[in-house]
Amino acid sequence: MDCKKAESLVTDYINGKMELKELEDFIAHVKVCSSCYDELQTYYTVYFAMEHLENGENPPSFNMNHVLVEDLKQQERFIKYEKLKRFILLATCILLFLVILFLLIN
Ligand SMILES: [Zn+2]
Repeated sequence: MDCKKAESLVTDYINGKMELKELEDFIAHVKVCSSCYDELQTYYTVYFAMEHLENGENPPSFNMNHVLVEDLKQQERFIKYEKLKRFILLATCILLFLVILFLLIN
């Protein structure tokens, strides 16, 4: 993924509107590209503050970099979990197919 693509996906990331593969590529990019990471961090901080203001709360004085790092980690765990789920589903389908095939043959 290049910077142009990554920058265009910043708001999608914040809104949680990304395909799994896209999300994976995006995280891989911002982890190695400081310019896109800064961009993400800026938007993320603004979004986080706005959300609290809309809810009538004062924006908490969190360390936003820490919050973003945690969010990225959580997204990575989500990707791993989704991949595992897909793998298990696929393995189950193949197994089921083999069982049916076995039953048909015998
Ligand atoms: Zn970049």
